[in-house]
Amino acid sequence: MQTRAIKTASQRADRFQESVIREMSRLAAQYKAVNLAQGLPDFACPPELKAAASKATHDDINQYAITWGDKLLRDAISAKAARFNGMTVDPDTEITVCCGATEAMVATMMALVDVGDEAIVFEPFYENYGPDAILSGATPRYVRLHAPDWTFDEAELEAAFNDKTRCIIINTPHNPTGKVFTRAELETIARLCRKHNVICITDEIYEHIVFDDGQARKHVSMASLEGMADLTITINSLSKTYSITGWRVGWAIARPEFTLSIRKVHDFLTVGAPAPLQRAGGAAIEMGQKYYDELAAEYTDRRRKMMNILDEVGIDYYKPQGAYYLFSDISRLGHESDLAFTKYMVKEVGVAVVPGASFFSPDNTHRHDYVRFCFSRRDTTLDAAHAKMRAAKIKL
Ligand code: PLP
Repeated sequence: MQTRAIKTASQRADRFQESVIREMSRLAAQYKAVNLAQGLPDFACPPELKAAASKATHDDINQYAITWGDKLLRDAISAKAARFNGMTVDPDTEITVCCGATEAMVATMMALVDVGDEAIVFEPFYENYGPDAILSGATPRYVRLHAPDWTFDEAELEAAFNDKTRCIIINTPHNPTGKVFTRAELETIARLCRKHNVICITDEIYEHIVFDDGQARKHVSMASLEGMADLTITINSLSKTYSITGWRVGWAIARPEFTLSIRKVHDFLTVGAPAPLQRAGGAAIEMGQKYYDELAAEYTDRRRKMMNILDEVGIDYYKPQGAYYLFSDISRLGHESDLAFTKYMVKEVGVAVVPGASFFSPDNTHRHDYVRFCFSRRDTTLDAAHAKMRAAKIKL
């Protein structure tokens, strides 16, 4: 009998690529380049969190937590949602703690979306949403955010809604553009969700990194808008707000019926997020207002520093309103593509950044015009990147 060739990937896994962002971090290590690619802080987390994490292990919080999350953490998340987001959330029936926002998003999609359903995704988009759609069987339907302010056209959005639309994914503040959706924009999306009975999955992981710019700019949570609490799944995590991306603690907030489904999927995907870090996460969330104000102020300084660097070397960018990235238009610089530019940057200049195509659908003709710089870095790291870019004289 002839032996069958061994299949090395399911059709599902074959439909998406390895993460370009994480690949750039590997290249940064290989070429000893300054890593401005992956979205992670290279500075210490608050000391209170280190103390809380070591206390949790010493208190023997070392076994599986309740699968949908440590009770103390869920209570803290519920209090936080009331304090910052204008949301009333039952910690016992409406929260599922997951391994980061990453798992919360894919568990939500797998729990609520069927094969053949459509998911509206604004592009550019955080690269995980494509594979999330594929893993859950959804067909992504892309709606463009238009430069320079990355707003959407209401008619284009309305045209994307149809009988098959099950959900829309939004991300505010937005990775990679730094856009913060206005209340008016969210009201437009909410109106369409209510009209078509479509659920909104909102990734608000950068909610505390918003730049005021003298405009009283504020993060608005979709679930706080009229009639949206029951139609919204709010995804969040400890990763960015507390500079602990490696702890892998995030959550999904949704009405009880949705939560039951999300919890089932979550249970069989991961059982639970790390128990001691969940317990310590409660301490993080309860930090005073001063912590959140300082976080935004420090990121305002880092943004200024990064913008000064790009101004000096002559790279165009869109000034971000939130999150910790500068999205740059490199189409004027004369490189063949975003990938050619990022390869030149990592190998010749010694700075790793992310090629923009990973944030666009394959048929978007502008997908090779952009790269993303991450500025969640120590001053010394940004200074090192500056020195390398200055020495390489990246000029037009
Ligand atoms: N969502 C967005 C928009 C992100 O930018 C990231 C990380 O860069 C994540 C989710 C991943 O979050 P987590 O570390 O909680 O899985």
